[in-house]
Amino acid sequence: MPLPRTRGTALRQRLAELRGPDVPAKALDARALAALAANPGCARRAILDGAGVNKTALASALGSPSAFGQSQFALTRGNAFEAKVKADGGAELLRLVHEKLDRSAEPPSDARVPDLTATGPQGRTARTELELREAAAHPGAWTLLDHPMLALDVAGSPAFLEPDAVVVHPDGGWTVVEIKSFPLLDGSADPAKVGAAARQAAVYVLALEEVAARLGAERGGAPAPQVRHRVLLVCPRDFSNLPAASAVDIRKQRAVTARQLARLTRIEDIADALPEGTCFSPELPAEELTAAVESVPATYAPECLSACELAFHCRARSRQEGAVTTLGRPVRAELGGLTTVEQVLAAARGEAGDPDDPAVAALRRAAALRAEALEAACR
Ligand code: SF4
Repeated sequence: MPLPRTRGTALRQRLAELRGPDVPAKALDARALAALAANPGCARRAILDGAGVNKTALASALGSPSAFGQSQFALTRGNAFEAKVKADGGAELLRLVHEKLDRSAEPPSDARVPDLTATGPQGRTARTELELREAAAHPGAWTLLDHPMLALDVAGSPAFLEPDAVVVHPDGGWTVVEIKSFPLLDGSADPAKVGAAARQAAVYVLALEEVAARLGAERGGAPAPQVRHRVLLVCPRDFSNLPAASAVDIRKQRAVTARQLARLTRIEDIADALPEGTCFSPELPAEELTAAVESVPATYAPECLSACELAFHCRARSRQEGAVTTLGRPVRAELGGLTTVEQVLAAARGEAGDPDDPAVAALRRAAALRAEALEAACR
């Protein structure tokens, strides 16, 4: 939801100060928005992304450069695969959508593939919306939008997003298509990669829902086009270059991402809690920058390694503090109020902790069993 004008202006000014003088804002893309949903509790990431800070440059300035992003080889391979999937007017892609998501519809032939070229992201967004309106006005046919552009309001500013494709079904429903270069082996793929793709698709679905709501309002009471919550993930089959597809239910990711984006609009609260003069400009000396970054609470988890440019920095800090979050969220959840490795060991040794606390009791039992086993092994 856009921020009220004066509040929005003041917030934008505050975020520009945090970014640093003359540092341009880094636009949020679907990958960044999706990664936010992977670690919804992290205030550090929320404020850095909200302020448009370039986290890759920040991580380098902190002395912990990220090993994040795709290699040139992977990008080239991914582009070649996508071109193959979309060849011949998207015939194979549409066949996969029909097979996996809409078998009861007429098989796609003579699908419309409108030209979406326009000047600038605003122009491309308007062009995409025009074609979606056109498709909604003439149901009964398949339409393939190749690299449409969508806008999503994030903390008062539009983020421009570019899904690989959106397909309009003959019944008027819209499906997001994600084309990835990781393989589908025997019909399944790396769950972490599928999860990241699903979160990314959820961002596109939210943006499409805003378009659908606008078109619905224009139609004066007629139902808005339905944005389907099952997306199509297209990947190379096994180790070949042949496409295989899987329908992915993204309802959960959509709900988490929507919650997280609503929370992003409260970055004002995080900004207000920062010390006066805080600035994340990569031009600052490393010491000053480290203090600025450390002034925002973070919730490091191993998942950050595949989702956030600051992961090496936050992991090092987390390890220094002996935080149990470095061991992963499931372990963290089991340990209740024990937040450091030191506290866990003291509780296991019986030197600290409430014996009635189930986590403390389980640790003492585990320590006793270990001592017993070691004693037996030494006999
Ligand atoms: S790496 Fe750090 S800043 Fe990024 S999400 Fe994890 S804890 Fe937050």
